[in-house]
Amino acid sequence: MDMPQPDQAILASRDTVLSRLRAVLPADAVISDPAETRAYECDALTAYRCAPLAVVLPRSTAEVSAVLRTCSALGVKVVPRGSGTSLAGGAFPTADCVVLGVARMNAVIETDYENRYIKVQTGRTNLAVTGAVEADGWFYAPDPSSQLACAIAGNIAMNSGGAHCLKYGVTTNNLLGVTLVLMSGEVVEIGGPWSDAPGLDLLGVICGSEGQLGVVTEATLRILPKPEGARPVLMGFAANEVAGACVADIIKAGLLPVAIEFMDRPCIRACEAFAHAGYPDCEALLIIEVEGSPAEIDAQLARIKEIAQRHNPVAYRESGSEEESKKIWLGRKSAFGAMGQIADYMCLDGTIPVSELPYVLRRIGEMSAAVGLSVANVFHAGDGNMHPLILYNANKPGDLELCETLGADILKLCVEVGGCLTGEHGVGVEKRDLMTVQFSPADLEAQLRVKDVFDPGWLLNPAKVFPLEATASRRAG
Ligand SMILES: Cc1cc2nc3c(=O)[nH]c(=O)nc-3n(C[C@H](O)[C@H](O)[C@H](O)COP(=O)(O)OP(=O)(O)OC[C@H]3O[C@@H](n4cnc5c(N)ncnc54)[C@H](O)[C@@H]3O)c2cc1C
Repeated sequence: MDMPQPDQAILASRDTVLSRLRAVLPADAVISDPAETRAYECDALTAYRCAPLAVVLPRSTAEVSAVLRTCSALGVKVVPRGSGTSLAGGAFPTADCVVLGVARMNAVIETDYENRYIKVQTGRTNLAVTGAVEADGWFYAPDPSSQLACAIAGNIAMNSGGAHCLKYGVTTNNLLGVTLVLMSGEVVEIGGPWSDAPGLDLLGVICGSEGQLGVVTEATLRILPKPEGARPVLMGFAANEVAGACVADIIKAGLLPVAIEFMDRPCIRACEAFAHAGYPDCEALLIIEVEGSPAEIDAQLARIKEIAQRHNPVAYRESGSEEESKKIWLGRKSAFGAMGQIADYMCLDGTIPVSELPYVLRRIGEMSAAVGLSVANVFHAGDGNMHPLILYNANKPGDLELCETLGADILKLCVEVGGCLTGEHGVGVEKRDLMTVQFSPADLEAQLRVKDVFDPGWLLNPAKVFPLEATASRRAG
């Protein structure tokens, strides 16, 4: 993976940059000791590392604005950072950049149950948003598996999803408004607690913009009353393709469970060893959850069971208790961590039409066998959002490159069957060079012009999202 050479003039002016940042921030908000900046050298795409020039940890929108104004004046690049859990290298720094972390900005600003929203500073973690309202019977729906750690800032930048987004939609469907600080330091309000703001709908442009357009410091989020009840069911199948066909049939029947999650044998084993959830020992597992009153749950599960039986499940078990349900979800949500105990892996994120699941799962098996790297599958099957995990040995010369080539081929397959390069993890550096597979030069140019408007100096989150050749002249300034 290529990155541009660092700007030598900026590296040489490090002392000036630091003193100007220290002039606008409290002393403890600027980190420059290399031993400490190393903590920010990568995100969850750990294959790529580079320590930044400095890290700043502001506490307010005003401080963020001061940082951006300062960096803008000095021509210093800025990489916004939430919790650093991006799997696409979205928060990966360059040696000549300042990392702007919002982790200290984690307050709840306002909660309004009558109008069903919560306003938070964006450094607040996803789970802590629900944590702020659950005692009153409410929740925030998007639930990335990383929700204990990831921040709302990163969720907005990546338009994150999660297991329960099949029914409730992803971040963009639950985001009402943001406070955005532009690279110039200007602060703008976009959207708000109302359901349809007047003027251009810029919220859709900001959500999923991967730190390219501005730094989001506050967010107004839709909250929902907790459902009366929910029940997951485990279904085991003899082959990946059969489980894929079952998912396609459930969706085709017009059923809308809250979640349909898929795991293949390597993931089932790793997650079972971790969570002891009683997952069946089989080739492919579906976790399907429905919610509502007890009668509604029974009715939905009866229809789902009838469809599943057409695919001869080797196991079928409904959760019998709250405790059991928690374990079932603990296993699924720990899947990436559990796989990490077995091998190094690269987690892909592509989306395909649900009807193509059986074909794509078969092709991934064939492609993995052809290059000799194992691929484990765990993903949000209901909305076709796949996460093949390519297992490799980071210490074996050539393995990372092989892994990158296989990953690119799998993502190209997703586009070929009518899908998309990303479902929820974003493009970052990981899929940057594949954007030409998805978009024509005219499509890409339209997106670059949007960045020109928000960040004319191309200083925000450099060398991400767009292929390097397409942005070279703009980045050169
Ligand atoms: C174990 C594991 C499981 C995961 N499961 C899921 C999942 O189920 N669903 C899912 O969608 N993702 C998942 N992810 C990926 C990741 O957690 C999400 O992309 C998450 O939203 C990133 O949030 P973060 O706060 O860590 O952002 P970071 O990694 O810090 O940054 C992500 C991107 O957001 C930008 N950014 C950060 N803060 C700001 C800001 N204030 N303003 C503007 N841009 C900003 C960064 O520049 C970067 O481009 C998982 C990751 C891991 C490690």
